[in-house]
Amino acid sequence: MKSEAETGHGGRIDLANLERTELEELLRARGVEPFRAAQLLRWIYKRGITDFDRMTDLSKALRASFREIFAISTPRCVARDRSTDGTEKFLLELSDGRRVESVYIPDTPGWTFCVSTQVGCAMKCGFCLTGKMGLVRNLTAAEIAAQVRVLAAELGLLDARFTVVLMGMGEPLHNYDQTMKALRILGDPAGLALSPRRVTLSTVCVVPGLDRLAQEPYMPNLAVSLHATTEAQRDLLVPLNRKYTIADIVDACRRFPLKRRSRITFEYVLLAGVNDSPEDAGRLVRLLAGLRAKVNLIPLNEAAGIPYHRPTDEAVNRFAQILADHRLTVSVRKSRGRDIRAACGQLIVEGPARSAGQRLAIAMGDGGPG
Ligand code: SF4
Repeated sequence: MKSEAETGHGGRIDLANLERTELEELLRARGVEPFRAAQLLRWIYKRGITDFDRMTDLSKALRASFREIFAISTPRCVARDRSTDGTEKFLLELSDGRRVESVYIPDTPGWTFCVSTQVGCAMKCGFCLTGKMGLVRNLTAAEIAAQVRVLAAELGLLDARFTVVLMGMGEPLHNYDQTMKALRILGDPAGLALSPRRVTLSTVCVVPGLDRLAQEPYMPNLAVSLHATTEAQRDLLVPLNRKYTIADIVDACRRFPLKRRSRITFEYVLLAGVNDSPEDAGRLVRLLAGLRAKVNLIPLNEAAGIPYHRPTDEAVNRFAQILADHRLTVSVRKSRGRDIRAACGQLIVEGPARSAGQRLAIAMGDGGPG
């Protein structure tokens, strides 16, 4: 049985949860020309219009009939915070009252939207606040795609060439089908036409999910959250490692089909005194030998309840230098939006409006993006 989020409101079908082929099929079954699907997607994704009455290239009769058949679920923006560095954090309320945060980062190098794939996360990474709350629920494809649609509309960027990173709350490969469906919806040429080259999926590496991803026609850039160089260390930091080890992950990366000129990004959250030693850097070099790889170092953004500390700038530079000396491309992630708690691992929102009194701390934990 489908949930309310999947079927829309009052028994109507949620058009936001449909990719074009499904929509065409539904229209055809109702005697409506399938090309109307592209018209609808254009209104919703290119123009940000979700009111059928404003879709002026549809006849009045068609608009009335669509109003009866379809809902277009759209998360409500309930708060918006702007950092002094231009980063903006959006608090979005979903149809069941749950809330997620999505972040707009203005110059990385273009415009980037960081979106979530789950409310909470089951992966329980030791340095991540989201992991502490466990998994509340998966987001639907509509809810994942709508974060991009809502942010782009709010910011007047529906026509811009922005990028999307799946680095918010949740592990995308743990909500595989809805995540990939959302990407297909966002990639539709009649809508936002988001090319997979402008999408990065970040994962702690559910290996069977990675192997499935390798078969996808719509294949985003891949960022693997490694965070450790020994199995014992990663068992501690990323409990999923007990199931899919570093060795499994490196093997899966070696067989992952990369497009010409593309590389896998390995993300590595640096924790003082835990995984930031020169020995760690040396092991990381050896682990990635022969892979088309680049490394993104993420000095931890400290947060209450997280038992780790940010390394000194000297330790970060020393680590980066060792990787660079071995011809690895390395970047150190700038911390954005710290003053509005929008930096990696710092996003906190209050819980669902419905559960009065229950304050649920939700943190977007891209301190090790899932
Ligand atoms: S780092 Fe990512 S995968 Fe790990 S708990 Fe946080 S959100 Fe989940």
